[in-house]
Order: sequence, then C-alpha cells, then structure tokens
Amino acid sequence: MGNRTLAIIKPDAVGNGNSGAIIDLIIKAGFKIKAMKMVHLTRSSAEGFYAIHKERPFFGELVEFMTSGPCVPIALEKENAVEDYRKLIGATDPANADEGTIRKLFAKGIQFNAVHGSDSDENAINEIAHFFSTDELFNNDSEELIKNER
Ligand code: GDP
Repeated sequence: MGNRTLAIIKPDAVGNGNSGAIIDLIIKAGFKIKAMKMVHLTRSSAEGFYAIHKERPFFGELVEFMTSGPCVPIALEKENAVEDYRKLIGATDPANADEGTIRKLFAKGIQFNAVHGSDSDENAINEIAHFFSTDELFNNDSEELIKNER
C-alpha cells in the first residue's frame, strides 16, 4: 500500500475562500502534510500535469480552469493514502459524491470540483514530483519539525 498522494485545492475553491476548511478536513481525516505551496499554474505546467486527458473533449476547458487563478498543491502522507484521500473527496461529479465528502461540500460541478487527488501510487509519485523537489518534502518526525522551526 502506498503512503503518499497529491492533493490540489483547485482555483475555484481557493477563489471561494475554502482552502482553510478543506485543509482542516484533510488533517482531521488523519493525513500529514509533507509539503504545500500556492502556485498560479502556467499553461504548459497545467497541460503537462493533465497530459493523460489531452484527447478528452474537456481538455481545453480543464487547462483554462486550472490556469484561471492560484491553486494549492499539497503532498500528503497516510497509510493507504491514494484510496483514503479519494474516499475523502468523493466522486468527480459532486452530484454523485457521498454526503460529507469534500466535493459534496465545496464543488460546484463536474469541472469546478474543488480538489484533485491522485488515482494510483505511481501517479502520486509523478504528480508530487511535478510540484515539489525532494528537499521540499518534510519528514513528519519531531526532530525535523523542530529543526525547520529555527
Ligand atoms: P478526477 O480523478 O476525479 O479528478 O477525475 P478525472 O481524472 O476523470 O478528470 C480530471 C478533471 O477534469 C476533473 O477533476 C474535472 O475537473 C475535469 N473533468 C472531468 N470530467 C469532466 C467533464 O466531463 N467535463 C468537464 N468540463 N470537466 C471534466
């Protein structure tokens, strides 16, 4: 079982002021934050991140959306991270998402759906590397946290 996944708070949720509430739900669900930043994606970065969807009819709209404002990528750690985080966010279309999931609470539609989550361990590794270098990933042991407070 993999223990890392990449979350992104998408531009709709950042713009609506929901970042804090979403991060709170993620932490309360038992995930540790390994790294986090706020970034306004360039077109080429967004196209690269979603390259797997390049033949889909919504690709252009998706890239427009993801470059429309800042987003917050977050590298997360937890046992069974990919699956547990996908459960926490709910279905791609919030109309099909379970009650209490992040997308049910904060998404406006199938595109403006508040958050991203990796869909496999392999993609999680690549997606984390898209946003973070290895020296930006914190170890969640107390020594490292104390060291980084200095
Ligand atoms: P995810 O893994 O649940 O994020 O879903 P996908 O990997 O299938 O799609 C990636 C992202 O593309 C979604 O999170 C949505 O923002 C967007 N998306 C997916 N399906 C559609 C669609 O049918 N229409 C539009 N406009 N956007 C979509």
